[in-house]
Amino acid sequence: MSTLYAIYGASGCGRSLMPVAREMLDTLGENAEIVFIDDGLTEIIMVNGHQAMNYQQFKSQCAVKKKVLIAIANSQIREKLADQLEQDNIELWSVKANNVVIMDNVELADGSALSPFVCITSNIKIGKCFHANLYSYVEHDCVIGDYVTFAPSVKCNGNVHIHDHAYIGAGAVIKQGSPDKPLIIGKNAVVGMGAVVTKDVPANTTVVGNPARPLIKK
Ligand code: UDP
Repeated sequence: MSTLYAIYGASGCGRSLMPVAREMLDTLGENAEIVFIDDGLTEIIMVNGHQAMNYQQFKSQCAVKKKVLIAIANSQIREKLADQLEQDNIELWSVKANNVVIMDNVELADGSALSPFVCITSNIKIGKCFHANLYSYVEHDCVIGDYVTFAPSVKCNGNVHIHDHAYIGAGAVIKQGSPDKPLIIGKNAVVGMGAVVTKDVPANTTVVGNPARPLIKK
């Protein structure tokens, strides 16, 4: 019996990452099964040609080893599920598309999902369960915390520090910082889609627009 692989989440994020994971295993020559885990399910069904089951059903599957990619955009859910997997001694799985470019000295923690056309350049440190959606890039000397999420086409330039659980919306551009003064995006911050971030974003703050400014709810 070989490793049983799973994509946790059978909604949009999971269904978009399943083909990426499948292609990665094919390239590695590993002819292993990949299933979906989704707690919204009560019985085992087929989703896009793969078995889909809830976590209890997954735990009862027989396998020498299990590896799970958490493919859910909500970072708080990713953290909760990663803790649960750790308690159950199930490994986090990292998945990357075959055309992802990763340059020199990149430290990437477990559980990352790198979608097609993502580029991570050099001297970069990235924490647990990072999601970089289609066409996003991370430039040199960035430091990214745990459970950070990039929607598609995020342009994160050099010397930017992004703290845990920040969410960067589709098409956002983050201005380059400098080695002595990196641009900082604080913990739990949200950058709206298309925003142009030119200065630090405080923790727990949503910014939108060009130049990006805190969102004031009316
Ligand atoms: N989900 C789950 N366990 C949880 C929380 C969420 O299996 O503890 C599943 C949920 O049933 C849903 C998916 O994760 O199918 C999240 O889907 P959603 O459309 O909200 O987001 P996305 O796919 O974009 O991350």
